[in-house]
Amino acid sequence: MHTKENSAASDGMHSGKKYRVVIAGGGTAGWVAAAALSKKLGALVDITLVESEAIGTVGVGEATIPPMRVFHQLLGIDEREFMRATSATFKLGIEFENWGQQGERYIHAFGKNGRESWLAEFHHFWLRGLERGIDTGIGDYCLELQAAEQGRFGIGPNSNINYAYHLDAGLYAKFLRSFSEKLGVQRVEGKIAGVEQDKDSGHIEALRLESGQCIAGDLFIDCTGFRGLLIEQTLHSGYEDWSHWLPCDSAVALQTESTGAMAPYTRSMARESGWQWRIPLQHRTGNGLVYCSGHLSDDDARAQLLENLAGKPLTDPRLIRFRTGRRRKAWHKNCIALGLASGFIEPLESTSIHLVITGVTRLLQNFPVDGISPATVDYYNRETRAELEKIRDFIVLHYHLTRRNDSAFWRYCADMEIPQTLRERMDLFRESGRAYQAEGELFRVDSWVQVMIGQGLMPRSHHPLPNMMSDRELQGFLAGLRENIQRAVAQLPAHEAFVRDYCPMARAGSGMEAGAAESLAK
Ligand SMILES: Cc1cc2nc3c(=O)[nH]c(=O)nc-3n(C[C@H](O)[C@H](O)[C@H](O)COP(=O)(O)OP(=O)(O)OC[C@H]3O[C@@H](n4cnc5c(N)ncnc54)[C@H](O)[C@@H]3O)c2cc1C
Repeated sequence: MHTKENSAASDGMHSGKKYRVVIAGGGTAGWVAAAALSKKLGALVDITLVESEAIGTVGVGEATIPPMRVFHQLLGIDEREFMRATSATFKLGIEFENWGQQGERYIHAFGKNGRESWLAEFHHFWLRGLERGIDTGIGDYCLELQAAEQGRFGIGPNSNINYAYHLDAGLYAKFLRSFSEKLGVQRVEGKIAGVEQDKDSGHIEALRLESGQCIAGDLFIDCTGFRGLLIEQTLHSGYEDWSHWLPCDSAVALQTESTGAMAPYTRSMARESGWQWRIPLQHRTGNGLVYCSGHLSDDDARAQLLENLAGKPLTDPRLIRFRTGRRRKAWHKNCIALGLASGFIEPLESTSIHLVITGVTRLLQNFPVDGISPATVDYYNRETRAELEKIRDFIVLHYHLTRRNDSAFWRYCADMEIPQTLRERMDLFRESGRAYQAEGELFRVDSWVQVMIGQGLMPRSHHPLPNMMSDRELQGFLAGLRENIQRAVAQLPAHEAFVRDYCPMARAGSGMEAGAAESLAK
């Protein structure tokens, strides 16, 4: 059935013409979308991407999480080639300093904690161990965490380590651009000056550039960043504000020279009114301070970041404003927002690029070849919302679960109302030690446990299963796991040595990629 809602899309298909997808914006979101669509649906669709060098990209977003590897495999991207081109290093997790309390630290690593039974996860055994005087950290039972602590990394036939990457965001966009253009994506340089809509349905028909050029399409993907040029400024999709739970609204970011050996993890250092990141790449380090402007002025934020750098600055501090929350309809009419145009939780657990990937995957799975049906749009939006809300709860946990009371910011976080869903999870863990990964949820039990325990939430009780073990059995079981991990970690090379051998970024004068050379010169 043809309705106003679906006519533009289906007419294109049925008349034998290719379906026209127009991507507005060429940051990480735009090029991830272009790469995925061209690789998977290239025979069916014509893809045009419009971006403006004069406007530029947000220029941050350099820490990732493990599912990115699956995405690259689906696209047939060679890991070494990708890592060389983006100056990437390996990431085993995030080190959180001063979050639970000043002076404390823990690592949230990508690995599994110990070995669980089907009845009770490993941490119940660990808790029983504590009760019986076996005083170890939960992190002693995670291979990735121990490898991170010791600055080691390795992949090979005998290693089953779970990891992600740190990458140069500018180089990643360039890498995916070259990948997509080879698959036929047309890139148009220019500023979008207007958006033309069907006057009855409100569907977007074309983007009008400052040059006067018009780019018509059937489906539009808004990757224009925080401004949401199509999804918000044109279609007024609405925004659900989460700043009462995630009060940081600003960041200052800059790049520094590398110092010391590159760590295989991101550092997240809680400061007086926010937190600072440090992301090691092969050719430089990414730094930034995320803060709440209600508690810290921009000048003080800049000063605080500059005071706490390890290397010499390569760029000036750049101010970025954001508002945490989500676009009420990520898909509205014939427009789908990806990346910052679709909302922003907060960079604390490096989830944004991942959400671009899951967004475009969901689009591929629900691609509207026969027209845009309201049921598909509703489904897409429902799934997107459910995914985001679970990640949001995990991030809010980090802020709320603090014993810091040294600043108004941390006192606010400790006292704030939190989402009911998170409250229930925390109560469940506190009372019974039960943690779970909900249906469709990104973060696993291991992650919830590492963060809750890492920030001082100790359960009052645990599953009775380990009580059936004698002290000797429990002792032997726990010691065996720790020894296996230490043995495996001892066999891994130093992270830096592994990177230099496996995927060295091409250096100046040795055929370095143009993009990498430019980035180094900045
Ligand atoms: C402080 C901070 C730290 C972050 N850290 C991480 C992290 O560690 N890990 C992670 O996964 N994510 C992180 N993110 C999020 C990540 O940066 C983004 O998800 C990612 O870069 C995608 O951005 P984007 O492509 O949506 O937007 P942008 O990079 O802003 O790109 C927007 C594009 O739209 C174009 N455009 C805009 N208007 C027009 C116009 N009128 N005409 C033509 N073109 C136009 C621009 O030229 C640009 O190409 C962070 C974000 C912030 C703010």
